[in-house]
Amino acid sequence: MKKKSKKGKILIVSAPSGAGKTSICDAIVKKDVNTVCSVSATTRPPRVGETNGIEYFFISESKFKAMAKDKKFAEWAEVFGNFYGTPKSFLNKTLKSGKNVLLDIDVQGGINIKKQYPEACMIFIMTPDIKTLEKRLRTRNKDSDKVIKQRLSNAKKEISYLPEYEYLVINDELEKAVESVMIIIKSLEYKIKKTK
Ligand code: 5GP
Repeated sequence: MKKKSKKGKILIVSAPSGAGKTSICDAIVKKDVNTVCSVSATTRPPRVGETNGIEYFFISESKFKAMAKDKKFAEWAEVFGNFYGTPKSFLNKTLKSGKNVLLDIDVQGGINIKKQYPEACMIFIMTPDIKTLEKRLRTRNKDSDKVIKQRLSNAKKEISYLPEYEYLVINDELEKAVESVMIIIKSLEYKIKKTK
C-alpha cells in the first residue's frame, strides 16, 4: 500500500465581493490547525482595522513590480485597479511542511494557480442569488452606490467563470458554508486520483 502523501493541498477560494469569502476562510483556519491562509501582497492602501502582514502585505507599486519581475509571486493580478499577488516562497514552503494553504484570490488568480498546480482544489463561494449579494453589500455599509454597482457587475463576470471551478458552496448561513468547505478539505485527504 502506498504511503499517504505528506504534501499539503492548495485550496483556491474565490467569490464575488460580499459573498462572505473572508469570514469563511477565517473560520476554516480557526477550525483546522492543518490549514493556513496565504497572505497576499497588494498595492491597495490598508482599510481601517487592517494591519500590515495580517490581512495583506501592503507594498508600493514599484516594489510590487520589482517582485513580479523577480518571479516572487506564484500568480498576480490587477483587481479593481490595484495589484494583488500570492507570494511563492510561503506557498511552497507551507505545502512542503504538509499544511494546506487557503488562497483567497480572484478568478484570474485561481485559474492561473490551477495551471501551475493542477492538483489545487478550486472552490467558488456565492450567495443564494444576486439579490442577496446586493442586499449584503448594501447592509455592510462599506461602499458607495457607485462602488456597489461596480461590484455587482463584476460579480456577474466572476460567476461566468464558475465552470472552471470544482466546487460551489452557497453561503446562505455562514456555519453551514464553513462546514461544507471543511467537508471538501477532508475529502481531499482521501482522494486517490489527481485532478487533471
Ligand atoms: P480586497 O481588496 O477587497 O481585500 O480584495 C479584492 C479582491 O482581490 C478579492 O477578490 C480577493 O480575493 C482578491 N485577491 C486578494 N489577494 C489576491 C492575490 O494574491 N491574487 C489575486 N489574483 N487576487 C487576490
